[in-house]
Amino acid sequence: MKLVQEYFGSMVFDDRVMKANLPSAVYKSLRRTIERGARLDPGVADAVASAMKDWAVSKGATHYTHWFQPLTGVTAEKHDSFISPSPDGGVIMEFSGKELIKGEPDASSFPSGGLRATFEARGYTAWDPTSYAFIKGKTLCIPTAFCSYGGEALDKKTPLLRSMAALNNQAMRIIRLFGNKEVKCVRTSVGPEQEYFLITQEMYDKRPDLRFTGRTLFGKRPPKGQEMDDHYFGVIKPRVAAYMEELNDELWKLGILAKTEHNEVAPAQHELAPIYTTTNVATDHNQLAMEVMQKVAARHGLVCLLHEKPFDGVNGSGKHNNWSISTDAGVNLLSPGETPYENAQFLLFLCAVIKAVDDYQDLLRIAVATAGNDHRLGANEAPPAVVSIFLGDELNGVLEAIETGAPYAGAQKTQMKLGVDVLPKFNRDTTDRNRTSPFAFTGNKFEFRMLGSSNSIACANIMLNAAVAESLRIYADRLEGAEDFETALHEMIRKTIKDHKKIIFNGNGYDGSWIEEATKKRGLLNYPTTPDCMPHLLDEKNVTMLTSQGVYSRAELESRCEIMLENYVKTVTIEANTMVSMARRQIAPAVETYTVKLLEAASAKKSLDAGLDSAYELDLIKELSQLAHEISQRAGQLEEAVGELSGTVEEQGYTVRDVLLKHMKELRMVCDRAETITAKEFWPYPSYGDILFSVR
Ligand code: ADP
Ligand code: MG
Repeated sequence: MKLVQEYFGSMVFDDRVMKANLPSAVYKSLRRTIERGARLDPGVADAVASAMKDWAVSKGATHYTHWFQPLTGVTAEKHDSFISPSPDGGVIMEFSGKELIKGEPDASSFPSGGLRATFEARGYTAWDPTSYAFIKGKTLCIPTAFCSYGGEALDKKTPLLRSMAALNNQAMRIIRLFGNKEVKCVRTSVGPEQEYFLITQEMYDKRPDLRFTGRTLFGKRPPKGQEMDDHYFGVIKPRVAAYMEELNDELWKLGILAKTEHNEVAPAQHELAPIYTTTNVATDHNQLAMEVMQKVAARHGLVCLLHEKPFDGVNGSGKHNNWSISTDAGVNLLSPGETPYENAQFLLFLCAVIKAVDDYQDLLRIAVATAGNDHRLGANEAPPAVVSIFLGDELNGVLEAIETGAPYAGAQKTQMKLGVDVLPKFNRDTTDRNRTSPFAFTGNKFEFRMLGSSNSIACANIMLNAAVAESLRIYADRLEGAEDFETALHEMIRKTIKDHKKIIFNGNGYDGSWIEEATKKRGLLNYPTTPDCMPHLLDEKNVTMLTSQGVYSRAELESRCEIMLENYVKTVTIEANTMVSMARRQIAPAVETYTVKLLEAASAKKSLDAGLDSAYELDLIKELSQLAHEISQRAGQLEEAVGELSGTVEEQGYTVRDVLLKHMKELRMVCDRAETITAKEFWPYPSYGDILFSVR
């Protein structure tokens, strides 16, 4: 048996491989590029490409691809083989620096949201040397950014890298103000906790809704759901354990630090969490992990569902984005420090996040907006659509003391003077209890919990990094010009707390009264659906911030808004069409067949002439006939509504929200009722019970 430490990262062209296979000068030059973003010289690129190819070929690779993350939400790859003909009729394996650095996939089939109309049709991919290349199957995958020829980002990685650079620039100004000259750069790190469902392939194949849309569009709740709370952290079933074991192996080979796994709240629901790493790498890894999760499932006769709401009535799946900022020396800037000065710096970064989340609540909501996630947010299983921050009592006490100048009621009972006093050590246990908050401080990181399970984490982190960079910019501008640094610092922190405490909420986020208080008393934003929030991406304050931070151009933002709304409309339209087809072609006929069966039974009883009671059959026949009629009518209304979708994508979004989804709900209601009174053998689909308890 091979030990994990022997095969961990075996499919990754990581630092160990680079060091061993690259000439020392080339290695050093590449490290400079990786660490400081220095330009890569072409000679170095050739040497790296050649070493990469030799390594990949030795691992059985025959092809390479520029691996990228277009705006579809999944990853894309176009494979080219390394082969090149040799004069003797054979082939040699070739790969040049040019091919490593830049690729030119045909961009015309990827969503561009109008960017392609204004710029050239073709796009190019550019190597991101900060994320290691890896082998998947027989292909060397090179993580890349994807841009149009005009330089507009057509992917999620480019803005993510820009947002990391923006945050680095502003955070460095602050660090220097605190007198630190050693730190070279500041990075954000992310550890995404990923939820998913595992069901059997057999059940999946029988449900057109799962196959076409990733979620069940019909289905009455099973007699047993999650009410017993017996699944969370429960014993992992052997088949699931075998899956997790192979999944871990595959992820480890890819250098992904899969660490924690457990059952989640709903039956058949599980979670996977990696150890946190630099944001762009974490993003690549999460995309890759989602792909591997699905592939490994197939090998076990299982299907891994990443949809946010695969089943009504039980919890959906989300993703928790654990986020922190640290220096290249490994100092976590969101961790209270040992000295008064470190503490003041911690409070400043903390305030920067508080201000950012309050000022850009809408951007955070937008970053997680999809048709799937709309079903989760606010449904008492995930945070509401209103963004707020949980700090915990201790930290809250500190901030209140600073704001009012009152003595801090903690252990010290002293007045908090920044730059003088040391903060108490926050106990992780006391900061992590609130699971209902969208954005919780958990001791030394923030946990953004609104992400949907299938979301790329890029979007959330782009907005978070950019917004925090903006707070830090404002702080740095003020502090750099201040006569007395400490007084200015204290005053600024106090002002931030005063201006932004409305975003801090330490209570129960699932409580209905919170939404009332949040929106009416505090004036926080509440955008329940994707069409509600998405147009605000183009609000002037958002465009100004994102363009001035160099994260997006206005055209790029317009394109994202368009694409996200288009995705929303398309997703729901596919669901609606699937429902119509299932209702018409399978559900109504099943109800009809069963009705005929009942009619036969009733007439058989009658023909016996023994005075048998047929009330059972007749009552059912009546209700089923009525339901069949309603199913047909409501399917017709839904189909009509789909046919009538028109106007701009924004207008279509509103129609989907107000009309389509309403018709879908009504159609589902009658079909689910029919399911409860139709004999199981006549029902065309496995039930919720069958699916959710299918894996043993
Ligand atoms: P839970 O939230 O389930 O209690 P943990 O807090 O232990 O679990 O970790 C959740 C995720 O947070 C893991 O992926 C972990 O690596 C990540 N994490 C821990 N510390 C940090 C940090 N400083 N920055 C970013 N992510 C972190
Ligand atoms: Mg967590």
